[in-house]
Amino acid sequence: MLNIVPKGTGWVEVICGCMFSGKTEEMIRRLRRARIAQQTAIVFKPVIDDRYDVTDVVSHSEQRIQSVPVKTARAIEEKAADYQVIGIDEGQFIEGDLVAVVRRLANIGKRVVVAGLDTDYRGIPFEPMPQLMCEAEFVTKLTAVCHQCGAPAHRTQRIGGGKERVVVGGTERYQARCRSCWEEPTEDGEATGQTGLDLNGE
Ligand code: ADP
Ligand code: MG
Ligand code: ZN
Repeated sequence: MLNIVPKGTGWVEVICGCMFSGKTEEMIRRLRRARIAQQTAIVFKPVIDDRYDVTDVVSHSEQRIQSVPVKTARAIEEKAADYQVIGIDEGQFIEGDLVAVVRRLANIGKRVVVAGLDTDYRGIPFEPMPQLMCEAEFVTKLTAVCHQCGAPAHRTQRIGGGKERVVVGGTERYQARCRSCWEEPTEDGEATGQTGLDLNGE
């Protein structure tokens, strides 16, 4: 991408997908490569995400990169001034107008890489990721491996119920599921029961 964009031009990259699809891993990879290219890079993450470490962004595969925890989009804008490349993990959990901040940062020449869930545990688009995809020049949608059958998974299954939109957890609370294995949650957030694939196709 660097080779096809004139120097001084900013742009937006979105990395989206369900849980375990490798969004954080991919964001860390891109930011590390930016630093190899001698560019100044910073990573932000929402304070809500304290799953592994209070200051590092950590992937499910234990890849890690130092990050600055923030609550709001405005805090990102205030701290991003001195950097050429800006990574934001779990974009769906950043409060405030992230789309406007990302747009302004790209407009003043920064490369902004935002990773986040495109849908919640009900399969409903998770704002502001859909709007960020429209703002972005480059969108990468990743799939995980379905925990039930091994097919490409694009949905996140919450295990054990709970109907709040945000319940932080890892493999004990969530699984990646393909469209055949994913069960639409009931009103109280419970999954409806095991479906699984009918491998006989009958
Ligand atoms: P995300 O940020 O999208 O939740 P991460 O980058 O944190 O994903 O983690 C991706 C890593 O998670 C994979 O490289 C793999 O090691 C691990 N992993 C665990 N379960 C799965 C799964 N069901 N599908 C794919 N990767 C998985
Ligand atoms: Mg992640
Ligand atoms: Zn499946």
